[in-house]
Amino acid sequence: MRIRDIRATTVTVPLEAPLRHANGCHWGRFVRTIVEVETDTGLIGLGEMGGGGESAEAMFRAMKSYLVGHDPARLEEMRFRIANPTASLYNNRTQVLAALEFACLDILGQAWGVPVCEILGGRLRDRVPFATYCFFRYPNPRTGAGEVRTPEQLVEFTHALKQRCGFHTHKLKAGVFPQDYELECYRALAAAFPEDSLRFDPNAVWSTEQAIRFGQAIKNLHNDYLEDPVFGLNGMRRTRAMVGMPLATNTVVVNFEQLAANVLDTAVDVILLDTTFWGGIRPCVKAAAVCETFQLGVAVHSSGELGIQLATMLHLGAVLPNLSFAADAHYHHLTDDIIEGGPMPYEDGAIRVPQGPGLGVRLDREKLGQYQELYRRLGGYPYDQDPGRPGWTPLVPNDRWADPKCDRPPAIPF
Ligand SMILES: [Mg+2]
Repeated sequence: MRIRDIRATTVTVPLEAPLRHANGCHWGRFVRTIVEVETDTGLIGLGEMGGGGESAEAMFRAMKSYLVGHDPARLEEMRFRIANPTASLYNNRTQVLAALEFACLDILGQAWGVPVCEILGGRLRDRVPFATYCFFRYPNPRTGAGEVRTPEQLVEFTHALKQRCGFHTHKLKAGVFPQDYELECYRALAAAFPEDSLRFDPNAVWSTEQAIRFGQAIKNLHNDYLEDPVFGLNGMRRTRAMVGMPLATNTVVVNFEQLAANVLDTAVDVILLDTTFWGGIRPCVKAAAVCETFQLGVAVHSSGELGIQLATMLHLGAVLPNLSFAADAHYHHLTDDIIEGGPMPYEDGAIRVPQGPGLGVRLDREKLGQYQELYRRLGGYPYDQDPGRPGWTPLVPNDRWADPKCDRPPAIPF
């Protein structure tokens, strides 16, 4: 079996409402690149990557000169062919490799008649639990609904999500407003859901001293961990020594070099594995094995997924013996998906690992066309700009916070 063709399609799928974060905003939609790898036996494997547009599509087309004629089972060979570590200093293809690895694993599963998790060591669980992943949100630019800005709105939104999806863990993505205001929001969440566990992620925008102050202030709450309070292993290590709770990261341990540094001089307790950042599902399985050896925690990170990437997260979650925390997903903020059957449902806060061969998801061609059209109409959006604050540039550590009293909705195209 050989690779015959590689195709990429950029799509935009609407979110319920724009998601605010420390560096800017998801402007009411996700832009994703859907990758199809076709073999000479007629199988089509699916991959997905964040962002998109002409340059992303051209990047995948350029991989044809490396990979047409390549056996999709030779995954390590593919890694060195397109993402050799020293060549990567120049071409930085980790995320491209990840999307192609997803597609090749999908092909192998289809060819061998097994789900991807059975190729990765075999499933240990049939369902992967997820956290709410609450964001501060601007109102939907079309309907004016869905704003999350005040503690009351946050609690109400989390109640609705819990009712709809059954979550038992609540994550607050923060780093948007002044620290004391976000502390008030987090405490409101803790008070409203005393049975559930919590996690807080300000996207590494605080100084180490601010991180220590916040960590000490939430000590008595039911925290899974404090996620990326500062940027950099040394600030994380200093914070960890002072706050008396586990720290987690998806920013400062995102490759094996950094994982080794963290093992030798530990700064982070829980490594949030991302199937894109690490270059595929298999590198995440390998990293989890290192974490198992050194008894670090692992969980699954979300970089904003549609159903194909979600499937990679589910197959990963299914095979990790040391998955001791609920996974993150932006998935329930989306209004639709590009896979057959529509968005995967949550049951009691968890999603079923797909049972079909390969990744177990197929493209809905009509939806793909519909959201390709939407991308063509709206184009991309600057992830690292806030539509509500033109000209704003956040610092690290930041002191240029949004005003929690400002309820003026920004003008966002839809
Ligand atoms: Mg994070």
